[in-house]
Amino acid sequence: MVDDEPPDDCMRCGACCFSGSPRHARVTGDDHERLGDDAERLVAWIGNLAFMRIEAVTVDLHKCIALAIDAATGTFACSIYERRPEVCRDLEQGSGACRGELAAKANRPKRALTVLATRRP
Ligand code: SF4
Ligand code: SF4
Repeated sequence: MVDDEPPDDCMRCGACCFSGSPRHARVTGDDHERLGDDAERLVAWIGNLAFMRIEAVTVDLHKCIALAIDAATGTFACSIYERRPEVCRDLEQGSGACRGELAAKANRPKRALTVLATRRP
């Protein structure tokens, strides 16, 4: 598999859930409502616009707070998959947008796994 070729399984990829931008994933009013009590923890506000909160893996590697990385199995899962924002639902695996994400970020999940592997007890 070349780096920008989508894998069959998003759980082996995770690239589109990495971003350093605080505006990475917009959370609409409906999205926010779906998150219920978790919204406060997961959502950051910029003015009157809401976005999924971004957290650091390292100083120069950031991801959506809802992305759960399992370093032992090398897998990536959206911890709120059933309640994820509409913008995430719209990003179809294998689509042009997916390939664009991979072209820009395919190395980030690999870097995260490498970093997290060094932190495991
Ligand atoms: S949608 Fe594409 S970029 Fe996102 S995790 Fe799946 S294969 Fe990777
Ligand atoms: S909400 Fe889930 S699918 Fe959307 S960017 Fe965050 S981890 Fe990825």
